[in-house]
Formats: sequence, C-alpha cells, structure tokens
Amino acid sequence: MQIAVEGKTTDIPEGASCLDALKESLSGKKLRKVVACKCGGRVLDLSAPVPESCQGLEPVEEDSPEGLDLLRHSAAHVMAAAVKRLFPDVKVTIGPAIENGFYYDFDAPKPFTPEDLEAIEAEIQKIIAENQEFTCTVMPKAEAREIFEKMGETYKLEIMDDLEQDTVSIYRNGDFVDLCRGPHIASSGALKAVKLTHVSGAYWRGDENRPTLQRIYGTAWSDPKALKKYLNQVEEAKKRDHRKLGRELDLFSIHEDVGPGMVIWHPKGALVRTILEDFERKEHLKRGYDIVVGPTILKKDMWEISGHYDHYRENMYFTEIDEQIYGIKPMNCLSHMLVYKSRIRSYRDLPLRLFELGTVHRHERAGVLHGLLRVRQFTQDDAHILCRPDQLEEEIMGVIRFVHDVMGLFGFEYEMELSTRPEKSIGSDEDWERATNALKSAMESHDLPYDINEGDGAFYGPKIDIKLKDALERRWQCATIQCDFTLPERFDLSYVDQDGERKRPVMLHRVVLGAIERFMGVLIEHFAGAFPVWLAPVQARVLTVTDAQNEFAEEAVAVLKARGIRVEADLRNEKLGYKVREAQLEKIPYILVVGDKEVEERGVNVRIRGNKNLGMQSLDDTAAMILEECQKPFAQGGMSYSFAHANASSL
Ligand SMILES: [Zn+2]
Ligand SMILES: [Zn+2]
Repeated sequence: MQIAVEGKTTDIPEGASCLDALKESLSGKKLRKVVACKCGGRVLDLSAPVPESCQGLEPVEEDSPEGLDLLRHSAAHVMAAAVKRLFPDVKVTIGPAIENGFYYDFDAPKPFTPEDLEAIEAEIQKIIAENQEFTCTVMPKAEAREIFEKMGETYKLEIMDDLEQDTVSIYRNGDFVDLCRGPHIASSGALKAVKLTHVSGAYWRGDENRPTLQRIYGTAWSDPKALKKYLNQVEEAKKRDHRKLGRELDLFSIHEDVGPGMVIWHPKGALVRTILEDFERKEHLKRGYDIVVGPTILKKDMWEISGHYDHYRENMYFTEIDEQIYGIKPMNCLSHMLVYKSRIRSYRDLPLRLFELGTVHRHERAGVLHGLLRVRQFTQDDAHILCRPDQLEEEIMGVIRFVHDVMGLFGFEYEMELSTRPEKSIGSDEDWERATNALKSAMESHDLPYDINEGDGAFYGPKIDIKLKDALERRWQCATIQCDFTLPERFDLSYVDQDGERKRPVMLHRVVLGAIERFMGVLIEHFAGAFPVWLAPVQARVLTVTDAQNEFAEEAVAVLKARGIRVEADLRNEKLGYKVREAQLEKIPYILVVGDKEVEERGVNVRIRGNKNLGMQSLDDTAAMILEECQKPFAQGGMSYSFAHANASSL
C-alpha cells in the first residue's frame, strides 16, 4: 500500500507497522526523536499496523506537546510498575498525564514517605535501563476482567464495569499490566528525564466517601536539560509565591478566623490595588464606558429571572431580611440590566457600556482556595456592553484591543481560547450558534490565532478566554469576553430601531484584569514583588547617614512628594548598610542616600533597584527621572495616563 510521510510517498506491505512506514521516509536521527505517529488526527503506537484507510502518517516527536503527553503517561505506567515491585500489596487505580507531568493514584496500606519516593525513583531508573517494551493487547472485556481479578486489582474491575464497549485494551511493560486506551511510547528506554516531585492524598473518583488514595506526582521531559529548566522554574516559582511575598512585603493577609478565601489588604497592598483600580476607571472612561455601582445583595426573585437561582445557586450565599430572601451577588450583571431598563433606549443610544468595579462572593470549596488566586470574595473589573447585533463584532474587537493594550502595559504575552456550549446551559441552539460565530469572526477577521475549548462556555453563552503568560511562562486566565443572548431576553430588554420596531439588544459580559485579587497575585509572582515604578507602593526612600542630614532628608521628601512621587524617609539611627539592605528587601525602586556632601549640594545619591548606582543628582532631576520611568510602560502600550492622579498624595 501507498503511504505518505512528511510529503514523501512510499510503498509498504499490507500489515506493516507504523514504525516500518516511518523508517522508509525519515532519517535515523529524526526517527530517534519519534515516540508515536498520527493518522488523521489519531495518535497511534509505533508498533500498531498502519490502518488500511490511512493515507498519510505524521511523526509525533518527543518534545512536541503530544509527544510529551505520551512520555508523561508512559512514565506513569513505569512509576506504577516500580511501585508494584517495591510494594506488592498496593492497588493501582489511574495514572494520567497532566500539565508538565503525571501522577498515579495508589491504594496503599500506609502513606508513602520521602524515603519511599527515593526508592521508587531508583526503581524507575532500573525499569528505564531495562528498556521494557510497551505492548498493547485488545481482548474481550471478560478476559481482561479475569486478568485483573487474579491480580486483585479491584479498582480496574470497577473502571471496567463502567465501560460500555465489549473489548478493552491492556498495555504491558515487563510484569506490569494496565487497563489503558493508550497510545504509548515504544519502550521505557525512551524516557530520558523523569523525576518524582511529591505525594498527596486524593479520593477515589474525587468522592470524599470513597477510600483515600496516595497520589504520587512526577514530571517527565524529552531530555535532562528540559527537565532541569522546569525544576528551576518550580524553584523560582516557590521563591516568588505571592503568599510568601505578600507577607514579606506586608501587602495582605488571610485569616482563618475571618473566613477562608477572604483577603485583608494592608496599606501597601491596598495602595497598589487602588492605583490599579484608579487606572482602570480612567481607562474605561476614555474608552467610552460609563461607570455604575450596584448593590451587593438583591432579592431572590431577581436571581430567578436571571437563571442564577436555577443554575448557579450552589455557588451563591443567601441572607434573609424582613422575611425576604436575598442573594449575595456572585456576578454584577443584574444591576446593569436595570440601568439599561431604566429608560427607553433608541438604536442611537447603543452601544451602552456599563462598567463596575464590582465586589462579588462565590462559594468555592475550601480545598481549592489558594492565596489571592482562588478566593471567595473578590472584585472584578466587570462591564456589560449592550449593543445592536450589527455592532457586536466591533464591540468584541474593542474589548480585545483593550485587553491587548493592558497586557502590553505589564509586558504580558497572551493567548486566546474560544469556549463553546457546555452540557448544562440555557438558550436555544440558534442563539448559541450566532453568539459563537460572532466571537469567532471577530478573531478571524483580524487574523488573531485562537484555540477551541469544547464545552467550556458559561451556562448562558460562549466566551473568549484570554490567558496571559507570566515571567515563568505560566499561563493565567484573566480576561474573558462572554456573549449572551439570554439575559436580555430574560430581562425583556429592548431598543427602538430605526424602523420604529422594538428589538432585542445583544449583550457582552467582559472583564479585562478579571478578579483584582487574582491579578494582584499574578503580578506579585510575575514581578517577584518588584512592582514597576508606576505601581510600587513606595517608589523612593531617602536614607540618611547620620542625624546631621535629617532636616535636609525631610525637605527632600517634601519636594519629591510635591511632584507626586510616593516617597518616605528612613531617619532611624541605624547603619547606612542596614537601611539600604532593608530597602532592597522591600524592593523599593529608588534608594536616595543623603550624606554631608548631598546636604551641601542639595542633591541625593541615587541607587536604582538592581543595584545600579547613578551617583549624585539634583532633586529636580531625580523627580523627573522617576516620573519618566512611570510613563514608560504606557508610552509603549500606546496608552497615556496621567501619573499625577495615580499617586498617593492626590488620591
Ligand atoms: Zn496507559
Ligand atoms: Zn455579567
């Protein structure tokens, strides 16, 4: 039969394996990097026969996203094999590949210790050295049941009970047998960089009434260099952990006695947040939004109209006042609907863009709460755009441009994903299609690349999720644009069109930064606590060498403050070196030292964060330099922003 590999067509005998077919076309060097192949989008084992219908094979290389997935999933099998060798009483459950690694859940008589993990890792290396082949056998379910029954692998039996098909596939490597759809790499020797990372508890099938399992996590990469880079990134992420930096820089705290997932902002954190919010208000006004403010609690009836009561109730908090039940808002949409409805709208009034820094409460399970990144109370930079159907695409583009500019301001790259209709949803098929197409065509007509997230939309409409990439190349979901044809219907919103007819507006829900709390968490980690000058809570600190300079230091602070700079003096009777170190630990962008010479010449000795020494400068030049540094990110992003208003002295 004829088969094409990377544009080269060769003849292969019927029943030839994928590996045989690839050997015909690929160089030995390239072939060594291939861990599987793809035919018509389906990934196949190299040992599998080339399917009859297959016309072309595409090699899957070890460092491609699909290749890495295979390495990681295969590493999970190898880890399970190692565990079974060392702990024969352990029962295996499931072991998928995950982002950057893999895990396997075991039902073990006692928790694994760090020493156990070391022993398992050593055993993994042995199995890799043995270069065990992964072989796949397809068999009737009954036959597979017998195999796993004999081994006492009761979890595998339970998994099989839920499978509807009559045949299943099992994969073997050495003595280890696993129920698995595959595919896999050809043999364990292809694993060149595997490392176990940690153990945690997990419930079988995530159900807290089922047995507690031991989940061993590991990571696997195509080569030791990539593994090392990843492990360094993990180390760096630990150093940058926003909970640690939040404490050290005195930005915020979270107290169990107050409630999990509730943040208390300390002066410096609250100041950074205020600067962000102030920037947002101005930027929204500039882009044609109106600022509105709605109540935190609204009567239950309102949530029934919106559909939240039926579809989102389990995530909401309720309270009772005068025998009337109120829902604490998990979203800001409802008040905005009422602003729209407060008067008759003409086609000329649209689009209406209503913006609110709205504080919402959502009941997240205690187990998923995480510092600022997952909280129960947070403030969104939320807006609802109500427009005519013919304006929809331009409005979507306007939001994308907004997000683009703001991401540029912080130096973030970003990616876009389109999420389509989930299983649990409201609205007609036709509406969903219209909304999904509007989002698609806005991106496509501007050549913006995007991925599709099947079934991950909100219950009321499809959405574009924008994921930013931070300094450690981690992705964070912040901005979203959600299309909604349902809420205008439910609230019976209308406008009078050119032809005098009443028509239904279309609505977009959108956030740019998303939750301010979460965005702050991302910023802290991205900048490792060293905020850009325009955001830094303290931009400059004046340090004296001895008491003799106190008077001038205070004068310098007053001069810089008057120019709108957030500056303070450290007049403590401590050694200069000590004061400098402390300011550096607090990541203050400018350290301004004042000694006798500086007093005499009415200047400051300037040290920039990162330890660059500029020598003595006049107060005037220093102020101009700091203010210019504040403007820089805005000039690059094509935005203008007046700093005089962003500063503490004028807030
Ligand atoms: Zn498998
Ligand atoms: Zn909304």
